[in-house]
Amino acid sequence: MKLRCTKCGREYPLESFIQRCEICNEPLELELLKGEIREGKTVWERYRDFYPFELEIEYSLGEGDTPLTKVQKLSKELEVELYIKNETLNPTWSFKDRGTFVGIHRALKLGFRKIGTVSTGNMAASVASYGQRFGLETYILVSSTIPEEKLLPIAVYEPKLIKVLGDYGELYFKSLEIGRKNRIYFINSDDPFRIEGYKTISFEIVESFVPDYVLIPTSSGGLFRGILKGFLELKESKIIEEIPTLICVQAQGCSPIYKAFIEGKDRIVHFKNPNTIAHAIENPYPPSGNDVLRKLRKYKGFCIAVSDEEILNAQKELAKEGIFAQPASTVGIAALKELRKEKEISKGERIVSIITGSGLKFLGALGRKLEIRECTLEMLNKCIGL
Ligand SMILES: *Cc1c(COP(=O)(O)O)cnc(C)c1O
Ligand SMILES: [Zn+2]
Repeated sequence: MKLRCTKCGREYPLESFIQRCEICNEPLELELLKGEIREGKTVWERYRDFYPFELEIEYSLGEGDTPLTKVQKLSKELEVELYIKNETLNPTWSFKDRGTFVGIHRALKLGFRKIGTVSTGNMAASVASYGQRFGLETYILVSSTIPEEKLLPIAVYEPKLIKVLGDYGELYFKSLEIGRKNRIYFINSDDPFRIEGYKTISFEIVESFVPDYVLIPTSSGGLFRGILKGFLELKESKIIEEIPTLICVQAQGCSPIYKAFIEGKDRIVHFKNPNTIAHAIENPYPPSGNDVLRKLRKYKGFCIAVSDEEILNAQKELAKEGIFAQPASTVGIAALKELRKEKEISKGERIVSIITGSGLKFLGALGRKLEIRECTLEMLNKCIGL
């Protein structure tokens, strides 16, 4: 079992503490694993063949096995079969928990007792939570622009929490350097083993059906790579015949991958002055950006960017289906509306949009006045209108 550079193909042994290629500084990836679906209650047990080491289920907080729910109103309106993979139901309310759980195993295997991450919110909360769960010293570096209300669900786990002034994209590389010096395993956004955790999303989806398209909110590119790797492993294992078309979705206010994609470039450039309501996908220099570009070309996926207005509108429409998602997770719905309007996706297709994180994480983003009525106990009958 080896780790391989996603660009030059250079191989690194599993036992070495190397997170990116020493030659091209591009992300590493574990080679494709093959297997069968086994009996078991959790996704980790059912897909244990697809992991190079045993996962300690007793430390799980219940990652994954989230519902795949058909959204009826939007399906009807857009004339497609639209399902959402509801990742808001993870232990810390985002899909990041899947990757944190597997990433910590890797850190422990290499003998680390200190872990960390660099995050705008969700990954920080996830790593802080699992750091406590596994009894590890945990370092959380967040960008100084993070809203106060997003800090509380991180601070509650009492990690070593540090707000860092400076470019968020560069903080990623800096943290890996500091981690090497101080023996801290930074389980950052596109760590090879975080990605191994994310592939369970694909495993769970195909337990219901193989979609035509999957819409993936994309920041660092870790989630995109994880979902793709999951489908590729299922294909290699002859569990599915074809992989779905993957759509990388970004927010217009921070869209370095989209920009390079439409300009036909093979490298991303640092996105200047990022500004979007979808903070959780606001990485101006995605560490897996170049690899997402390579993979979009190789597997014929595509990339689209949507505006804040479209994102907030999609959030509202999802609430009408009974689901409260944070803005970064509703970009897929916004993108689908656009793709249907432009007829890039035809009628009747089966589509899964990944709803990556909960609306409760970022109440400040609601950006609209919600109607709340008030009435005395005596007047209640009249207020209800009977
Ligand atoms: C982390 C995150 C993403 C993007 O994931 P990447 O792996 O960085 O591309 C999307 N939505 C939410 C809510 C997130 O927290
Ligand atoms: Zn390389």
